[in-house]
Amino acid sequence: MATPGKPARYDRNLVVIGGGAAGLVTAYIAAATRAKVTLIEAGRMGGECLNTGCVPSKALIRSARLAQQIRQAADLGLGGGEPVVDWRRVMQRVQDVVQAIAPHDSVERYTALGVEVLHGQARLCDPWTVEVQLHDGGTRRLSTRAIVLATGARPVLPAIPGIDAVEALSSETLWAALAARDAPPPRLLVLGGGPMGCELAQALQRLGSQVTLLEQGPRLLPREDEDVAALARQTLEREGVRVLTGCRALRFERAGAMRRLWVEGDAAPLEFDTLLCATGRQPRLQGLGLEDLGLDTGAPLDVNACLQTRWPHIYVAGDVASPIPSTPVAAHQAWYAAVNALFGSLRRFKVDYRVVPQAIYLDPEIARVGLTEAQARQQGVAYELTRFEFSALDRAVTDGATAGYVKVLTVPGKDKLLGATVVGEHAAELLPQFTLALQHGLGLNALLRTLHAYPTLGEVSRQLAGQWRRAHVPQWIYPWLARYHAWRRG
Ligand SMILES: Cc1cc2nc3c(=O)[nH]c(=O)nc-3n(C[C@H](O)[C@H](O)[C@H](O)COP(=O)(O)OP(=O)(O)OC[C@H]3O[C@@H](n4cnc5c(N)ncnc54)[C@H](O)[C@@H]3O)c2cc1C
Repeated sequence: MATPGKPARYDRNLVVIGGGAAGLVTAYIAAATRAKVTLIEAGRMGGECLNTGCVPSKALIRSARLAQQIRQAADLGLGGGEPVVDWRRVMQRVQDVVQAIAPHDSVERYTALGVEVLHGQARLCDPWTVEVQLHDGGTRRLSTRAIVLATGARPVLPAIPGIDAVEALSSETLWAALAARDAPPPRLLVLGGGPMGCELAQALQRLGSQVTLLEQGPRLLPREDEDVAALARQTLEREGVRVLTGCRALRFERAGAMRRLWVEGDAAPLEFDTLLCATGRQPRLQGLGLEDLGLDTGAPLDVNACLQTRWPHIYVAGDVASPIPSTPVAAHQAWYAAVNALFGSLRRFKVDYRVVPQAIYLDPEIARVGLTEAQARQQGVAYELTRFEFSALDRAVTDGATAGYVKVLTVPGKDKLLGATVVGEHAAELLPQFTLALQHGLGLNALLRTLHAYPTLGEVSRQLAGQWRRAHVPQWIYPWLARYHAWRRG
């Protein structure tokens, strides 16, 4: 029986709403498989990652890292000292980096790939019709066989009394605000001790701000193991960031240029001139007409393992409904959303979240894949832990980068990996060895048998595997070996 209102024919196979990581990859796959696809973006192509997320933050972190290396140059026998920060040039470079990467996500590139790109605000008039308020005037109505919602998430400011008076910045507004300044904010208050709060706190402290990082939970980086979070805190504090955990913000006050935050239990308020909130995000679901289709936008969207909403031809991808908000997960989901939306009548795939690498770009970096110790304990998974220190790795010693370690969880008595965490120089670049092993069922013995150039940081996986192997050589073999060699000596 036909569904009431369902058209007999459609203008296109797929409409993708949102041109961020998830939407771009979805549209790319659709065009590559010769589907007729339209991508609608209301803001800037590339979405958050390119414009206000990964790219500008990593460009800023690059300058901050060099500033710190200049401070530490004397350790390597070079003249160093306090770096001279040309703030306008730092921020100009951040914008230049965004511009350099922008062509990868541009209208021109996607049009050449076969995607119709429209600039405007999209909403669903009915389950098969998307209306676009075009930015250059007019509206268009598109009928489509399937829809992928890839509208991302927006930062949420906490409901703390007085916050409206202190011009709180979020990841969306931070970059323009920083670019408008001649110098970094002298006293920066960062609310939220998750990855974004920690990364930006360290970067801005290194570039000259006096940063206070306030987290209401008992510790920073709550999704990381305690030892990892403790090392991150230690590093931030050593570099001068004032870290306050278990602190509840009560109210903000403003008197002229002076801004203050009263914190529970403190006799005196915290004074600051710039506030950055890194306090969470909510899916961008408003204004899309979803309520009229019976989809609940007050809570996270109810989607199944194939990324379908209650309307089986309306899919989601990316931060709008992701258990792990990140660019690679958005792109990973996009594959499933595109393939299921276009070929689902033949076969549908459930998203596989088992091997998801994640990184925090603090210095030293933190990167992990598979289970953490805390997750293993929580899930009742038995594990054996092997840990290898960067201080025992020759290349880390030559480079003066001995802070950090690798810890790997394996099935007890076996070399089968359950998870790996790397904390140290270039941790995110070292992780893929473990990701590959986990994804393809390679054990620590396989890593041990893999030659690495010497001296490299990459050897850390082999060294760790060697340590695991030594701990698992059966002890009975040693007397036998001694007897064998004695026999050979005659
Ligand atoms: C400071 C910061 C640093 C980060 N660093 C990293 C990192 O290092 N690594 C990492 O993996 N992740 C990082 N992230 C997270 C990463 O940016 C996101 O996970 C990723 O960009 C999500 O992509 P998306 O496509 O789901 O959403 P988005 O990129 O937000 O794209 C959604 C798009 O939909 C558009 N849209 C919304 N509604 C409509 C509508 N009605 N009509 C038309 N268009 C609409 C929006 O304009 C937007 O462009 C960072 C985030 C921040 C804030």
